[in-house]
Formats: sequence, structure tokens, C-alpha cells
Amino acid sequence: MYNALLNLDFSGHMKVLAFADDLVIMTLGKTPSEAEVYANSDLARIGKWAKENKMQFNEFKSKAMLISRKRSNDNINIYLNNRRLEQVKEIKYLGVYFDSRLTFSKHIEKTAEKSTTVIYMVGKSAKLQWGLGHKSLKTIYEGALIPILTYGAPALEEAVAKHRNLRKLQRAQRLINIKIAKAYRTISFEASCLMAGVPPDGIVITEKVQLYKRKHCTERNAYECDLPVPVTDWPHSARRVSITETSDLIAYATQIYTDGSKIGGKVGAGVVIYTDKRLVRKCKYKLQDCCSNNQAKQIAILKSLGLLPTLEDHNTRPVAIYTDSKVTLASVKNSSIHSFLTEEIRNMVGQLTMLNWTIHFGWVNAHNGIEGNEVADKLAKEAALEADDQNIVYARIPTTSVATELKKEGIVKWQIQWDSTEKGAICRSLFPSVEHRLKMKLPITPEFTAIFTGHGKTKSYLHRFKLTDNPTCPCNEGVQTLEHLIYDCKLLEVQRSSLKQHIMADGGNWPTTNIELVASYLKSFSGFVKAIDFNKLQ
Ligand SMILES: [Zn+2]
Repeated sequence: MYNALLNLDFSGHMKVLAFADDLVIMTLGKTPSEAEVYANSDLARIGKWAKENKMQFNEFKSKAMLISRKRSNDNINIYLNNRRLEQVKEIKYLGVYFDSRLTFSKHIEKTAEKSTTVIYMVGKSAKLQWGLGHKSLKTIYEGALIPILTYGAPALEEAVAKHRNLRKLQRAQRLINIKIAKAYRTISFEASCLMAGVPPDGIVITEKVQLYKRKHCTERNAYECDLPVPVTDWPHSARRVSITETSDLIAYATQIYTDGSKIGGKVGAGVVIYTDKRLVRKCKYKLQDCCSNNQAKQIAILKSLGLLPTLEDHNTRPVAIYTDSKVTLASVKNSSIHSFLTEEIRNMVGQLTMLNWTIHFGWVNAHNGIEGNEVADKLAKEAALEADDQNIVYARIPTTSVATELKKEGIVKWQIQWDSTEKGAICRSLFPSVEHRLKMKLPITPEFTAIFTGHGKTKSYLHRFKLTDNPTCPCNEGVQTLEHLIYDCKLLEVQRSSLKQHIMADGGNWPTTNIELVASYLKSFSGFVKAIDFNKLQ
């Protein structure tokens, strides 16, 4: 029904968005009054259309909003059914708050509120000493909170660049980080991210924005993403092509071996065709370096299908196409996978079937030394290493590669932030590298985090936060800092000698550095922390 509406003859200054029974009409003008004129004339058209189709838009439920960076306070008079629409300063559409200056501050405020509510709910079952563990909380964060915090991310790029907005999101994220890391409440946002092992949400949002841009090809100089075929282009279920596997009972007149290969960052595909056991065709194809091995294997199959009509007098005799990739075979067979190449393969099989071809697909073990497969593999490698970039047959980058790339960039950004913050000094002395921290499996407990962040447990911390008058250790030999406990405190001689033994046994030296303690002797070091009875050190 709405389709007809969307196709009405509008002024050309307008865009209509329809979702379920919601309709958003956007009109662009150089001035508010110009936009007003276009909006009213287009609304009149819509009103007329509605009348003709015996529909009615409710003017009381409809709102008007002027979006302008400079003049968002101007009054605008937009009419529907001869009634002036209420002018609002913000509109919530599909869960995103749009405000009249497109600052999205309100949206961010709401997002932070919503995540805080969820975090408190989770918090009820995640007190410091009991309840949900580090891992399950991290899972909850990734599964439930990231989607809330990053909802509508593509619209938020500018908004999160503003410190004020970012702080709101960070406050919310710090709350869950503290729970994931079992940390004291005084820990900084920066240290909380590192201990929890989750990137700061500003970085996560930027990552989502970039992924969106890459997927929608708004970035120049980047390869097109290998996006799945959109729903609107899927074949009708009645015309869905089913893929048949090869059978030992059939003598295949033509046997085709296909393979793909990625070596040294270069990608190629190879096809060998045998007819009546005679080698009749050898072909190789080069793919762009950004492509995956899997894409190469699919290209090989697709290209082999394209070669079939060039073989003479074959179309009534059965053809077997082999691949050594179970994944490739499974995705071609699975009609609910709509990746570009699998859809292309199925389409091609469908077309050839209509021309009387019988095409079956089979898997061959790459390690069985089957001649056809070996030749296809060799061709694929040759194609990969070809210097000439002129003949590239495929250059779409897998979305997963883009995501991985962006994740890496995110870690680099995170490192820059970590290096430049003044906060979390102790934590930074132990974990200078974000990348290394993320590769570690930290045995997170409240004691562990307290020691590793310098927040909690030690008397220097208690003194800093005015919880005790005196920072001196009960051994009376100095201020009770992390360094003191590790290297000097007389009360910990037993624990220290065991730590020393472990480190020396591993070929290390004593005293060592904090960085080494974490990077090379994490297990012994956390054993040392575990063996400390903090009650005796107060
Ligand atoms: Zn001491």
C-alpha cells in the first residue's frame, strides 16, 4: 500500500521513509520557509492520495520538527488535514532520538540511562565477592550492553567526538567494567576498560561507524565489501535451486576439479576439466589480495560452471564438480546462505539445469593425492603469484576481514589513549600494552584487580582515599605500596621466596620488573597475590 505512496509525484525536495505504519517525510530547503512550502505542497499530495485510498493520517499523532544547525528555534507551520502540526524539538524514530540540531545529545543521554538500568539489574547478581563471574559478565556486556550503547552508531559519529557526550557513555560503561573486572569503585574509566578487557565505547562506536561506511561504500579507496545478496534479490522459494551431491553410482562424463589458494597474502583459483578421463581444460584466475581462500574456492566453482557451455556435446551427460573444501560445499548447498558468490553459483546451476545440464557437487580429500585436485591446487597457486594485476576477476573484501581490520585499528587507537592518559598509573606500569593485555587470560578476582590497579587492599590506597590515617605498612619499613609488597615487605618473605623460586626456575632474575611480572610470570605472580592475607597487613 505504502509503495504507491512512496512513488507519488513529489516535489523532489523530499524523501519519504516508511517503516511498518510509521511515515517520516523529510523536506530540504535553503531556508525554513522554503522547506515549509515544499513540505506543505507534498503533504497536500499525500492527503489527497490518502483520501482517494480511503485512508487517513492522524494529524494529532503527527508532529513537525525543524532541523537546522542555526535556526532550529524558528516556528514552522506545516499542515495536515488543514490543521497545523505540533512543532517539536525532538522525535524518536526507530529507537533513535533525533533533535532539531542533530546533536544526538538526547539520544546519548537516553542510551546511557538505559544501559545504567541494565547494569544495575545485572549488578544485583554480581556483587564483588559472589554472583556472576568475570566471564559471564563479559558475555552479558558484549551481548546486551554493546548493542544498547552502539545502537544507531552511524548517526553518532559527530556526537561521540564531543567530550561531554562521550563522558556520559563512559560513565555507564565504567559501571559494568567495574563489575566485569571485580574492581573497586574508585578505579578510573581507562583502567577499568583495560582490566575488563573491553574497548572504550567511543572506540567501539567508531568501529561500528566505519564498518557501516565500508559496507555502504561511502569510503573511497577501499575495496567493496562482499555483502550478502539483499532479501529483495533472493530467488523466489519456488525457483530455489537445490544442489545435489555426487554419487558413486553415476559415471560422470565430465569431472571438474576446483581449488583456491591464498599464499603470502596473494589469492588465486584454479579449474581443471576432464572429459572421458581426458584433460580438456586448465584455467586459472587471480583474485585481489584482500580476498579469502574461501572466496577463491567459490570463484573456482563459479568459473567452472561458466566453462561448461563451451564444452562440446555434453549437456545431456552428467558433470561432477569437486572441491576440497567442506565449508564451500556446505555453503553452496545451504540455500539460507545468501553470500554473493554462493547465490551466483546456485543461479548458474539453475540456468544450466534449464539447458539440460546435470551438475553434481562433491568433496575430495586434499591429502589423497588425487591428480585433478593437485593440478587445480597448482593452478590456483600460480594464479595467486602472478604479478599482473590486470586480470583480477574478483575484488570484494570479506566483511569479516573488514571487521578484523577495524578491530586492529581500534586497538591502536586504544593504545594511544592508554599511553596518553594520566590515570591508572599502576595499572599502566603492569600492562603497558593493550594488545598484550587482550591476549592474556587474567585470573580476575577482587584481590587480583585491587593489586593490579592499585585500587583497594594496600594501605597507600586506603590512605589516598582517606580510609586510613597512616599509609605505613605494619612491618614499619615504609609506605605500603604495591612495590613494597612485592619486593620489600618482611611480612611476605614466605610468599616472596616461593615467587622468586618460580621465576628463577623459569630462567628469570630477581628482582624483576613489574612489566616482566605480568608479561612472563603472570601465573606465579597471581599465586603470590593470592597467598597474601591482607587482613594481617592492615
Ligand atoms: Zn611491609
